[in-house]
Amino acid sequence: MPRKILIVEDNEDNRELVLKVLRNKGYEMIQAADGEEALEKAVAEMPDLILLDISLPKLDGYEVARRLKGMEEFKEIPIIAFTAHAMKGDREKVIVAGFEGYISKPINVREFPEQVRSYLRGKWESVIGGKEE
Ligand code: MN
Repeated sequence: MPRKILIVEDNEDNRELVLKVLRNKGYEMIQAADGEEALEKAVAEMPDLILLDISLPKLDGYEVARRLKGMEEFKEIPIIAFTAHAMKGDREKVIVAGFEGYISKPINVREFPEQVRSYLRGKWESVIGGKEE
């Protein structure tokens, strides 16, 4: 079964690029264009990974992450901040909000699939209890 990824991004060009690059790698892609749609799609589809823009209509990415991480079934699903806000302190802010990581926009098309894969691998390891003490 292909891994399922939810991309939440209100900018259509950015969203289409991510869809194209990751579909090309064989992932099953789900998409949402605002915070409310993100919550609906996440709950309905239970993706293996969520790429979540911060600046979004209706609910911002911080709020979407907080709500999802408040649900037991999303505790092990990596939520990755997908944002152009690459300022100092943002990394800390997204971790506090419940995100597992951070990928900056614009994406580097050559490096992006490996960045995504490393977060999926991290999730898989935590699910099978492979973490070393
Ligand atoms: Mn945005």
